[in-house]
Amino acid sequence: MSTITTTATTTTKYFCQRPIHDGTDCLVLDGAMGTTLAQAGLSESEAWTAGWRLNEPKLRLATKTAHMNFLNAGCDILTANTYRVYPESVNLFLESNGKSSKGSEYDYAGHITKWTCAGFDLASECVDEYMASGNNNTNNKKKKKPIIAVSIGTFGITIPGRTETANRIYDESMADVYNKKGFGHTLPEIEHYFDMRLSNEILSHVRNYCGENNDSIAFAFETCGDLLECQAICNVIERKSSLMKNIDCWITFTCSTAETVDSGDTLKSCIEVICQCPHIKALGVNCTEPEFILPLLKVINTTLKENNASDRVIVVYPNSGERYIARTLTNEEHEHWKNDGAQKIHVHDDDSFETAALQWIQNGANIVGGCCRITHNDIEKLVKKVHGGASM
Ligand SMILES: [Zn+2]
Repeated sequence: MSTITTTATTTTKYFCQRPIHDGTDCLVLDGAMGTTLAQAGLSESEAWTAGWRLNEPKLRLATKTAHMNFLNAGCDILTANTYRVYPESVNLFLESNGKSSKGSEYDYAGHITKWTCAGFDLASECVDEYMASGNNNTNNKKKKKPIIAVSIGTFGITIPGRTETANRIYDESMADVYNKKGFGHTLPEIEHYFDMRLSNEILSHVRNYCGENNDSIAFAFETCGDLLECQAICNVIERKSSLMKNIDCWITFTCSTAETVDSGDTLKSCIEVICQCPHIKALGVNCTEPEFILPLLKVINTTLKENNASDRVIVVYPNSGERYIARTLTNEEHEHWKNDGAQKIHVHDDDSFETAALQWIQNGANIVGGCCRITHNDIEKLVKKVHGGASM
């Protein structure tokens, strides 16, 4: 039973064939992988690189533990640890091991396919373990098999020195890195990156898991910060639409204000591009300050309505509102996340993350979870609020 009340007219939307009653309930997404890995004792660099080092027992175990924590918290959608699997990661990894890939014919596309499939396989192993454990059976109700979202990180992760989190503190001399439209790259260059991230081999690998009538796999294009990048993602998905049949996906944006995405382009202009792309079932915001979510939802709802696209699913997973220090720490600073006085996770004085999330649901969010600094404890509280401890 839902604990949410609303005066809005209820319509039903679908994501991965799961019904969502607009305004009164949602599918609960998991929280921050990096934060959870750091809590499990991994160093910052280990946490960021775990996605392509899953053959190392320590990193594999930490990732598995993070997945199981989110599953046992009751999430409906589990995100595979594939966000940061990208070409430059190979260079960083080789350099950290005293080697260099420079001048070599390294198989970047093969690297991306291999580690994306490995991250997906680990997530599916965790889902199978969770279903076999019986932990999905609460209040005599069986929860449906959680959906696995294969995460595809923004093109921005390939830009050295750039941090995707929109609420960040950085060295002003880096402004050039942040303020270039299209990250200073052309549409074909950005499309090439997403072509590799969504390779035909990856699509056929997940297809083997889910079968033709897929209701258990999605693709999450996350932390998009730019209009040109949004267009590139849409173009790649449209070109691969025959391979994406019955596979739902979302594009979520990092927003630096209540109206604009990270680059300064309007969120409205990005949504208008997606509205032209029928294969993108869902859209929304992630890794954005919680305080911007309600006005951003207004922009999304209005733009979808203007474009006769109100059946699209709206996805919301902000960070805690703390700011990321995207530069070398000073002697007084001990960690990269800074809380500027107030407990930013509390959107209002007496609100918690999950209470704020209920407002987002009432204002049209259909899939809700957390990005940086949102833990499995937060997700567990959200599940209890939304699902009352039972499945939807
Ligand atoms: Zn984040």
